[in-house]
Formats: sequence, structure tokens, C-alpha cells
Amino acid sequence: MPHFETDAIRIQQRSNQREHATALYLSSSFTFESAEEARAMFADEIPGNIYSRYSNPNTAELIEKVCAAEGTEGGIATASGMAAMFGSIASLLQQGDHILASRSLFGSTHQLLTRVFPKWGISSTYGDISDYKNWEKLVQPNTKMLFLETPSNPGLEIIDLEWAGEFAKAHGLILVVDNCFATPYLQQPAKWGAHLVTHSATKYMDGQGRVLGGLILGKKELIQEVQFFTRHTGPSLSPFNAWILSKSLETLAIRMDRHCESALTLAQTLEGHPEIERVKYPFLKSHPQHELALKQMKAGGGILTLSLKGGLARAQRFIDQLQMISVTPNLGDSRSIVTHPASTTHSKLTQEERQRVGISDGLVRISVGLEHPEDILQDILLAIESSTKA
Ligand SMILES: *Cc1c(COP(=O)(O)O)cnc(C)c1O
Repeated sequence: MPHFETDAIRIQQRSNQREHATALYLSSSFTFESAEEARAMFADEIPGNIYSRYSNPNTAELIEKVCAAEGTEGGIATASGMAAMFGSIASLLQQGDHILASRSLFGSTHQLLTRVFPKWGISSTYGDISDYKNWEKLVQPNTKMLFLETPSNPGLEIIDLEWAGEFAKAHGLILVVDNCFATPYLQQPAKWGAHLVTHSATKYMDGQGRVLGGLILGKKELIQEVQFFTRHTGPSLSPFNAWILSKSLETLAIRMDRHCESALTLAQTLEGHPEIERVKYPFLKSHPQHELALKQMKAGGGILTLSLKGGLARAQRFIDQLQMISVTPNLGDSRSIVTHPASTTHSKLTQEERQRVGISDGLVRISVGLEHPEDILQDILLAIESSTKA
């Protein structure tokens, strides 16, 4: 088995033009040699591309690469991460089913579970990671799915994937893990028993803030069910975005190494700063699930959070004083990014919902980019200093 880095570079779709870099296949459909070949392809008797809503050489290449990285058999590329979250749930559940989910989730995933799926009779309950024993009581007779995010956005909570795999097995639940923050380079949930792994490819997989994309990966039979849904509902990834994402995967490993190294250095340097109440980063000893992070992740990832003294007003002054770091909701970019979750990505949650997942008004999320770590640190330190007084 080749290594992650090699697969990410060498898995390739080729035409007969002998191109070295994969070509971009901007074609909505593909022709057949004969009426018989058309019939056989539609009947799934022979493989091949029919129509770009179903498959395309560029999306096929992307899926093959990510499957090699995640250790999964098949996958579907979607137009955004949210299309992947939606598709993985909507394709497998039906009216009357129930989802058990971890409480600390990406903002839109939380909206999906609390405000979209209930319209179609699919309900959700949230479990807290501080109390795994209580999850037994949260399983209902109609619970079909266990939906988790680790590390979570932006709480950076780490869920025990070994526990999750065993819990899902014991209760006959489909385990879905959003692996966006870690990427398959740092963590492979399928290894611990996840049936589906979902991604926002918009983040680290692109890594340069250019395109939206998502992925759903898993065992063949389950992916076939999801594929039926996506094929007929149409959240397909565009070939151009797939081409960008596949090129980006070639450098995912070296980018992640640098993101993680810089984030750890920053977290260690900023911890204990008199103007910061708390620095949270999975590979800091002070992180409540530090041991678990060491067990299931290769490195701590590129995201850290700072809880600044002085609440909302201080966090906003800090953000306004930054000279280099971008103020935008994206993450996983080569450019460092600051986000204030309470007023932006998680503003649709109630104050109580935010408190329960550790999003205080003074919390800022920093996606540590690929600039020189000393320049990132300096920008943060100067902004802390100049935001001390109102
Ligand atoms: C960004 C993000 C998503 C949604 O992805 P989009 O590509 O923006 O639709 C889902 N989960 C997590 C953890 C994310 O960070």
C-alpha cells in the first residue's frame, strides 16, 4: 500500500493525450459507442461516465484519492460540505427516525438537525462528551444514526472514536463522522468503525480558499444508497472544483504538517498570556481531552481558540486591531483567519446553546495559516496589546 502522500499525488485519471497533469473534463455528458453500450452502462453492467451529475473523470479522481486516504471503499463528491452533511442524513433516514448527535457541531449542521430535518419528522438529541454513560439513555427505539464531529467547530472537543465505534455497533446505529477539521491526514474515522465519513472539502482539502466542495465516503453498499439519493437530487460537485481539489490534495500532507506545527507553537506561546483567559488546542496538555487527541490524531490540527479577557467588546476590538490576519468565516486556508463564532458562524444558536458548547462572547477562533509563524504571532500579540483599553 503506497503512503498517503504518494496516493494523493499519483492516483490519476488519464486520457489518451499523454498529459502529465490531469486534464479538466468540462463535459456535461459522455457519448456511447453504441445503443447497447448505453443500455449496459445505465444498467450498471459496465463502468463508465454517463452524465456529470452522476460521475465525471475529475470527481472520480478526487473520490479515489480521498478513499485511499480515509481507507474507505467508495464516495460521492458534493457541491459543498453542507450538501455532504445533508445528503448523508437525508439519503439514509426517513420520517420517524431519530439522530443522536454530539452537541458541539458546525453552525449549519446544528441548524440542519434542529430546524430543517424536524420538518420531515426526523428528530435529534444531543449528547455531551463529558458524560458518555448518559448516551445510553439518549438512544431511543427509533434512533438510527450517531452523528459526530471531532475535533468540533469551534469548540475543539475531541470525541473518543473507539468508544463511538463500539457504541454505534452495540446499538445498531449508522456512525457518521464529520472529519473536516482533522482531514484524513491526521485521523481516519473509518478505522474506528465510522460507516460514513463526511467532509467540507472547502477547508483544508482546497487549502487556498478558492472553491466549495464536500465528500461522503464509506463502505460500498452504504455509498450506493447515498448515491441513489444524490444522483436523483443533484448536489454534484462541478468538474472544475473537483480538479482544483484533486490538485490541492497533492500538497495536503505538507500543508497540514506546517499548519499543525505553527498552531502548536502559537498555542504554547500564547498560553498563560495575562490578557487571555484560555487557549484551547488539542495538543496542549491543558486541553481536557489531550490524551484522546494524542491517541486518535497524528497532530493537533491547524485551529486554536483564544478566550480574551473582556468579553464581546474585547474580542471585537482585538479583531479590528489585527493587521495581517484575515477576518472571514472560512478556515483551513493558507492565509491565517480569525473568526468570532458568537456573532457570526454560531449566531443562530441561542446564548444557552452556545454556552453549552463553550462558545463564550470573548472566544475567537484562529485558523493558523502558512505564513511564517513569527509573523502570525506578532500580529496577534500586537492586537492583544492595542485592544487592552476601549
Ligand atoms: C465548513 C464546515 C462545514 C460546511 O462546509 P461548507 O463547505 O461550507 O458547506 C461542515 N462541517 C464543518 C466542521 C465545517 O467546518
